[in-house]
Amino acid sequence: MNISEINFNQAKFLLSAAKLIHLPKDTGAEVAFIGRSNAGKSSALNALTNQKRLARTSKTPGRTQLLNVFTLNVDDRRLIDLPGYGYAKVPEEIKKDWSQVLDQYLRQRKSLKGLVLVMDSRHPLQDSDWEFLHWTEACNIDTHIILTKADKLRYGQQKNTLLGAIKETKKLSNNVTVQLFSADSKQGVEELQQKLLQWLN
Ligand code: GDP
Repeated sequence: MNISEINFNQAKFLLSAAKLIHLPKDTGAEVAFIGRSNAGKSSALNALTNQKRLARTSKTPGRTQLLNVFTLNVDDRRLIDLPGYGYAKVPEEIKKDWSQVLDQYLRQRKSLKGLVLVMDSRHPLQDSDWEFLHWTEACNIDTHIILTKADKLRYGQQKNTLLGAIKETKKLSNNVTVQLFSADSKQGVEELQQKLLQWLN
C-alpha cells in the first residue's frame, strides 16, 4: 500500500460499536483518539479531516459511550473515536462497563497502531490523563499527545507547555510523543497527519 494515497479529507463515518465484536474485522491499521471531555477531540478530528461535522456523530445522545469508526480512502485503514473520559456525570456502573471495553480494546486490538491523546494545552496532564497514560504504558501502546487550543497561549507559554509535557512523559516506558495543536488556527495539523501516516503505514 502506498501511504501517500491516504487522504484524511475522505474520512467517512462507518459505525458505532458498543463492544469489540461489533468493530470491523481486526485487520489492517487504525489509530484511536481519546481525551477528557471538552479537551477538543472532536474539533481535532474535524480539523484533521477538514470536515466541519465529521465527529459530530460521536456526540449525539446514545453514542457518547461507543467506539465510533471512520473509514479512510485506503482499504483497511481507520480512525476510531473513543469516548471522552473524566465525565463527572456518568454513573459508576457505566464507567466500569466502559473501562472494561476500553481495556479489551487496548489489549486485544491488533490493528490498533497508536493512540492520539487529546489534552487542553491550558490544563495538560491532569490526574485522569495520567491514569490513562499509565494504562497505555501497561498495554505498551504508542501514544501521541496533542496539546490543543494552542491558539489560546502565547508563543512562550506554548513552548513551556510543550517542553514540560515532553519532560514529564519521558518517564513512561512506552513511546510517547507530544505536539502543539489548534483546530482554530490549524497549527500542527500537518504534524499530526505525518504521525498518523507513520502509524497507518
Ligand atoms: P471534545 O469534547 O473533546 O470533543 O471537545 P470539542 O472539540 O467539542 O471542544 C470543546 C470546546 O473547545 C468547544 O467549545 C470548542 O469550540 C473549543 N475548542 C476546541 N478546539 C479548539 C481550538 O483549537 N482552539 C480554541 N480556541 N477552541 C477550541
